[in-house]
Amino acid sequence: MKERENKRRIAEKAHALGANLVRCCPVSRWAEYPMQDAAFWPQNIWPWAENVVVIGIPLFAPMMATTPSVVYQELYDTSNRVLDDMAYHLTNYIATSLGYRALYFPRDCYDGIEVLLDRPEAAFSHVLAAYYAGMGTIGDSHNLITREFGPRLRMVSILTDAPLAADDMLAEQLCVHCGKCRRECPSGCFAPGAAGGVYEMDKNACTRYHIQLKRAHHWPCGRCALVCPVGEDLAPYCGQPLVTEAGARHCGTYGS
Ligand code: SF4
Ligand code: SF4
Repeated sequence: MKERENKRRIAEKAHALGANLVRCCPVSRWAEYPMQDAAFWPQNIWPWAENVVVIGIPLFAPMMATTPSVVYQELYDTSNRVLDDMAYHLTNYIATSLGYRALYFPRDCYDGIEVLLDRPEAAFSHVLAAYYAGMGTIGDSHNLITREFGPRLRMVSILTDAPLAADDMLAEQLCVHCGKCRRECPSGCFAPGAAGGVYEMDKNACTRYHIQLKRAHHWPCGRCALVCPVGEDLAPYCGQPLVTEAGARHCGTYGS
């Protein structure tokens, strides 16, 4: 009962803070379905952590469709700032109102894109946390794919020892293996995996392209997420262009 009540209160607070998606899972899922070196598992960083709460907010497709542009750059930066704000307030609520141990793993934990050339792994993968918490599945592009927003969302994670009712992981794979992300990647990062499924990814090629974009004062890329056909967020656009070609050029030219 306590697990359900805690989860209800945390989800209610997260939604009140503006979260669209809220899911949780026990840290034991990192060991049950290992996909990363154990040094990255939350329980091996903070041994008191029992559960992870993941919250997600959308990136708006017509703004992404201008990529690379300052319009998308501002959207990306805003989503990170909003997520960190929400995570701060939710952590504060869990710690001071509910009385449990809690912290959040900040959204983008790196000091400049260049550092990813040496260490391409994130200190904590919000994608994996969201996958373990049943928010979506991992697509061939390595992005989290959700029913609601396809891969066009950003997430942040809160770790706590609050007892929480776990969400189930999704049984059905949401990636439809259409190959669009691979074909449309401007730096050719993806190659079909030996056993099919998730692509081999040249993360350094992606980083090098981002360094180039940053020097041109408009980044990140996000094309693999933009072109993915999965996601209810695309339904209102009825397959119509999200932006005109001239409009995308305009947003890519001015302001950067
Ligand atoms: S972000 Fe851009 S460069 Fe990186 S994998 Fe996706 S499409 Fe390719
Ligand atoms: S674009 Fe196609 S292959 Fe790539 S992640 Fe989306 S559904 Fe999967």
